[in-house]
Amino acid sequence: MLEKIGSLSMDEIAEKIKACQKCPLFSTRHNAVPGEGSYKSPVIFVGEAPGEVEDLHGKPFIGKAGQLFSKILQSVKIKREDVFITNMLKCRPPGNRNPSKSEIGLCLPYLESQIALINPKIIVTLGNIPTKYLLNSQEGITKVRGQWFDWTGGIKIFPMFHPSYLLRHEETTPGSPKELTWKDIKELKRALSQLRNDFGK
Ligand code: SF4
Repeated sequence: MLEKIGSLSMDEIAEKIKACQKCPLFSTRHNAVPGEGSYKSPVIFVGEAPGEVEDLHGKPFIGKAGQLFSKILQSVKIKREDVFITNMLKCRPPGNRNPSKSEIGLCLPYLESQIALINPKIIVTLGNIPTKYLLNSQEGITKVRGQWFDWTGGIKIFPMFHPSYLLRHEETTPGSPKELTWKDIKELKRALSQLRNDFGK
Protein backbone atom coordinates (compact mmCIF):
# COMPACT_ATOMS: atom_id res chain seq x y z
CA MET A 1 0.00 0.00 0.00
CA LEU A 2 1.40 3.37 -0.98
CA GLU A 3 1.55 5.98 1.76
CA LYS A 4 0.73 9.59 1.10
CA ILE A 5 2.49 12.25 3.16
CA GLY A 6 -0.54 13.46 5.10
CA SER A 7 -3.09 14.98 2.75
CA LEU A 8 -0.61 17.08 0.80
CA SER A 9 -1.25 18.04 -2.82
CA MET A 10 1.36 17.50 -5.53
CA ASP A 11 2.43 21.14 -5.33
CA GLU A 12 2.76 20.92 -1.53
CA ILE A 13 4.90 17.77 -1.89
CA ALA A 14 7.14 19.65 -4.34
CA GLU A 15 7.53 22.47 -1.81
CA LYS A 16 8.38 19.96 0.92
CA ILE A 17 11.03 18.38 -1.33
CA LYS A 18 12.57 21.76 -2.10
CA ALA A 19 12.92 22.46 1.63
CA CYS A 20 13.94 18.90 2.60
CA GLN A 21 17.05 18.33 4.72
CA LYS A 22 16.38 14.68 5.61
CA CYS A 23 19.56 13.29 4.07
CA PRO A 24 23.05 14.77 3.57
CA LEU A 25 22.42 15.49 -0.13
CA PHE A 26 20.62 18.71 0.79
CA SER A 27 23.96 20.27 1.68
CA THR A 28 25.52 19.72 -1.77
CA ARG A 29 22.53 20.37 -4.04
CA HIS A 30 21.86 23.63 -5.88
CA ASN A 31 18.21 22.74 -6.34
CA ALA A 32 16.04 19.79 -5.41
CA VAL A 33 14.22 18.32 -8.42
CA PRO A 34 10.73 17.17 -7.45
CA GLY A 35 9.64 16.23 -10.98
CA GLU A 36 7.32 17.76 -13.53
CA GLY A 37 4.53 17.02 -15.94
CA SER A 38 0.87 16.12 -15.85
CA TYR A 39 -0.66 15.13 -12.51
CA LYS A 40 -3.27 13.19 -14.52
CA SER A 41 -0.75 11.13 -16.43
CA PRO A 42 -1.41 7.40 -16.87
CA VAL A 43 2.35 6.84 -16.73
CA ILE A 44 5.16 8.02 -14.44
CA PHE A 45 8.78 7.81 -15.61
CA VAL A 46 11.21 7.27 -12.73
CA GLY A 47 14.93 7.81 -13.23
CA GLU A 48 17.71 7.46 -10.68
CA ALA A 49 18.63 10.98 -9.52
CA PRO A 50 19.14 14.47 -10.97
CA GLY A 51 22.38 15.10 -12.87
CA GLU A 52 24.45 18.26 -13.03
CA VAL A 53 22.18 20.26 -15.37
CA GLU A 54 19.03 19.13 -13.58
CA ASP A 55 20.55 20.16 -10.24
CA LEU A 56 21.37 23.61 -11.59
CA HIS A 57 17.87 24.22 -12.96
CA GLY A 58 15.64 22.18 -10.64
CA LYS A 59 14.05 20.31 -13.56
CA PRO A 60 14.24 16.59 -14.42
CA PHE A 61 15.77 15.15 -17.58
CA ILE A 62 16.91 18.35 -19.29
CA GLY A 63 20.64 17.59 -19.78
CA LYS A 64 22.05 15.57 -22.70
CA ALA A 65 20.40 12.35 -21.52
CA GLY A 66 17.17 14.24 -20.92
CA GLN A 67 17.21 15.65 -24.44
CA LEU A 68 17.62 12.13 -25.80
CA PHE A 69 14.77 11.02 -23.53
CA SER A 70 12.53 13.76 -25.01
CA LYS A 71 13.41 12.57 -28.53
CA ILE A 72 12.53 8.98 -27.59
CA LEU A 73 9.12 10.17 -26.36
CA GLN A 74 8.60 12.33 -29.45
CA SER A 75 9.42 9.37 -31.72
CA VAL A 76 6.08 7.80 -30.70
CA LYS A 77 4.26 11.13 -30.27
CA ILE A 78 4.24 11.14 -26.45
CA LYS A 79 4.39 14.74 -25.24
CA ARG A 80 6.54 15.44 -22.19
CA GLU A 81 3.87 17.71 -20.74
CA ASP A 82 1.31 14.87 -20.90
CA VAL A 83 3.33 12.52 -18.65
CA PHE A 84 4.97 12.84 -15.23
CA ILE A 85 8.76 12.60 -15.04
CA THR A 86 10.72 12.28 -11.82
CA ASN A 87 13.54 10.41 -10.07
CA MET A 88 13.87 8.09 -7.10
CA LEU A 89 16.13 10.59 -5.44
CA LYS A 90 15.18 14.26 -5.59
CA CYS A 91 18.67 15.71 -5.02
CA ARG A 92 21.89 15.11 -6.96
CA PRO A 93 24.49 12.85 -5.38
CA PRO A 94 27.88 14.61 -5.71
CA GLY A 95 29.68 13.60 -8.91
CA ASN A 96 26.64 11.52 -9.91
CA ARG A 97 27.74 8.70 -7.62
CA ASN A 98 25.23 5.93 -6.92
CA PRO A 99 22.78 6.87 -4.17
CA SER A 100 23.17 5.04 -0.88
CA LYS A 101 20.47 2.75 0.50
CA SER A 102 19.81 5.15 3.34
CA GLU A 103 19.43 8.13 0.98
CA ILE A 104 16.95 6.18 -1.14
CA GLY A 105 15.05 5.06 1.96
CA LEU A 106 14.76 8.60 3.29
CA CYS A 107 13.65 10.01 -0.06
CA LEU A 108 11.25 7.22 -1.05
CA PRO A 109 8.16 8.64 0.76
CA TYR A 110 8.18 11.57 -1.69
CA LEU A 111 8.07 9.28 -4.72
CA GLU A 112 5.44 7.08 -3.06
CA SER A 113 3.29 10.12 -2.37
CA GLN A 114 3.61 11.30 -5.96
CA ILE A 115 2.63 7.84 -7.21
CA ALA A 116 -0.31 7.64 -4.77
CA LEU A 117 -1.66 11.04 -5.83
CA ILE A 118 -1.23 10.56 -9.59
CA ASN A 119 -2.40 6.94 -9.39
CA PRO A 120 -0.90 5.95 -12.75
CA LYS A 121 -1.55 2.70 -14.57
CA ILE A 122 2.12 2.33 -15.53
CA ILE A 123 5.49 3.17 -13.98
CA VAL A 124 8.44 3.15 -16.37
CA THR A 125 11.64 2.64 -14.41
CA LEU A 126 14.66 4.03 -16.24
CA GLY A 127 17.87 2.11 -15.54
CA ASN A 128 19.07 -0.23 -12.83
CA ILE A 129 18.51 1.64 -9.58
CA PRO A 130 14.76 2.40 -9.75
CA THR A 131 14.12 -0.94 -11.42
CA LYS A 132 15.89 -2.99 -8.76
CA TYR A 133 14.44 -0.94 -5.93
CA LEU A 134 10.81 -0.85 -7.03
CA LEU A 135 10.78 -4.47 -8.20
CA ASN A 136 12.71 -5.53 -5.10
CA SER A 137 14.92 -7.65 -7.34
CA GLN A 138 18.60 -8.01 -8.09
CA GLU A 139 18.01 -8.62 -11.81
CA GLY A 140 19.85 -6.09 -13.96
CA ILE A 141 18.08 -3.81 -16.44
CA THR A 142 19.43 -5.76 -19.42
CA LYS A 143 17.50 -8.81 -18.25
CA VAL A 144 14.18 -7.20 -17.32
CA ARG A 145 13.77 -4.29 -19.75
CA GLY A 146 10.82 -4.44 -22.08
CA GLN A 147 8.80 -6.72 -19.78
CA TRP A 148 5.66 -6.03 -17.76
CA PHE A 149 5.63 -6.59 -14.00
CA ASP A 150 2.67 -6.41 -11.59
CA TRP A 151 3.18 -3.92 -8.77
CA THR A 152 1.27 -2.40 -5.86
CA GLY A 153 -2.31 -1.24 -6.46
CA GLY A 154 -2.66 -2.85 -9.88
CA ILE A 155 0.07 -0.64 -11.33
CA LYS A 156 2.33 -2.24 -13.97
CA ILE A 157 6.07 -1.62 -14.02
CA PHE A 158 7.82 -1.47 -17.40
CA PRO A 159 11.63 -1.12 -17.12
CA MET A 160 13.61 0.58 -19.88
CA PHE A 161 17.26 1.55 -20.33
CA HIS A 162 18.24 4.91 -18.84
CA PRO A 163 18.93 7.43 -21.63
CA SER A 164 22.41 8.13 -20.23
CA TYR A 165 23.24 4.44 -20.91
CA LEU A 166 22.09 4.95 -24.51
CA LEU A 167 24.45 7.92 -24.84
CA ARG A 168 27.33 5.59 -24.00
CA HIS A 169 26.12 2.97 -26.53
CA GLU A 170 25.56 4.77 -29.81
CA GLU A 171 25.19 1.70 -32.05
CA THR A 172 21.78 0.86 -33.52
CA THR A 173 22.45 -2.69 -34.69
CA PRO A 174 19.89 -5.42 -33.88
CA GLY A 175 20.03 -6.22 -30.15
CA SER A 176 21.82 -2.98 -29.28
CA PRO A 177 20.45 -0.89 -26.37
CA LYS A 178 19.16 1.77 -28.79
CA GLU A 179 17.41 -0.73 -31.02
CA LEU A 180 15.86 -2.43 -27.96
CA THR A 181 14.73 0.95 -26.63
CA TRP A 182 12.99 1.65 -29.92
CA LYS A 183 11.07 -1.63 -29.44
CA ASP A 184 10.29 -0.75 -25.82
CA ILE A 185 8.96 2.73 -26.48
CA LYS A 186 6.71 1.36 -29.21
CA GLU A 187 5.42 -1.26 -26.75
CA LEU A 188 4.77 1.48 -24.18
CA LYS A 189 2.91 3.54 -26.77
CA ARG A 190 0.81 0.49 -27.62
CA ALA A 191 -0.07 -0.01 -23.95
CA LEU A 192 -0.97 3.67 -23.49
CA SER A 193 -3.21 3.60 -26.56
CA GLN A 194 -4.90 0.48 -25.18
CA LEU A 195 -5.48 2.25 -21.84
CA ARG A 196 -7.04 5.19 -23.60
CA ASN A 197 -9.37 2.84 -25.46
CA ASP A 198 -10.25 0.85 -22.32
CA PHE A 199 -10.45 3.56 -19.65
CA GLY A 200 -10.21 6.89 -21.45
CA LYS A 201 -7.02 7.47 -19.39
S1 SF4 B 1 17.56 13.47 -1.61
FE1 SF4 B 1 15.46 13.35 -0.85
S2 SF4 B 1 15.67 12.92 1.36
FE2 SF4 B 1 17.66 13.72 0.63
S3 SF4 B 1 17.56 15.93 1.02
FE3 SF4 B 1 16.89 15.56 -1.11
S4 SF4 B 1 14.66 15.43 -1.00
FE4 SF4 B 1 15.47 15.15 1.09
